[in-house]
Amino acid sequence: MTIQLPIDMHTVKGFLADAEGEALYYRAGETSDLGACLEVGSYCGKSTIYLASACKLMNNILFAVDHHRGSEEHQPGEEYHDNALYDSNAQCMDSFRSFRHNIRAAQLDDWVVPIVAPSVVASRRWNTPLGMVFIDGGHSLEAAMTDYRGWSRHILPGGILAIHDIFPNPADGGQAPYTIYQLALNSGQFEALEMVNTLGILRRV
Ligand code: SAH
Ligand code: MG
Repeated sequence: MTIQLPIDMHTVKGFLADAEGEALYYRAGETSDLGACLEVGSYCGKSTIYLASACKLMNNILFAVDHHRGSEEHQPGEEYHDNALYDSNAQCMDSFRSFRHNIRAAQLDDWVVPIVAPSVVASRRWNTPLGMVFIDGGHSLEAAMTDYRGWSRHILPGGILAIHDIFPNPADGGQAPYTIYQLALNSGQFEALEMVNTLGILRRV
């Protein structure tokens, strides 16, 4: 599948393979008639641009939830820390500036609603049915469970739940995303559709 993207995606910092981004784009397009799209974990906007480009095409909206303070692995001294995203005045990570820059460069401001808040806060009084949810936020078990509990219940029948960083083999990576992936399957409310690299895609039955 070749898709038209508004900017060179390799200029956008992030943690998403091309094939994974394309799968997100395709699934967002497929579910746009059903309801709004929502992602948890936007970082600098890579997944956001894939999802929102499909939303633009389909006249849908993407809610992009991220406190923009970074996950555990983005903090100073950790493996994925990027000093260019560190706000030394506030002494914390801040990916929101880069996020806004990239969404604007991609001309997607009219299709993205940034929600700059912890996922648990954003989901607390959420009441909008969703056609697709993409979970790529914190990777502690608590964070992943909170994201799954807070957002999966809003997915409409026929809608998509996509979860990033699925590693069935513990030697390959952290197990929290895989744990919620299995929880979704075992709930009987979701069926597995496909796995694209580490992106697990499920459909709400
Ligand atoms: N989807 C992005 C990568 C996301 S990295 C891409 O395509 O490149 C994970 C992001 O989740 C970080 O930006 C971090 O700030 C955010 N995050 C982690 N825990 C969170 C939480 N509890 N609530 C909101 N955002 C969170
Ligand atoms: Mg990820």
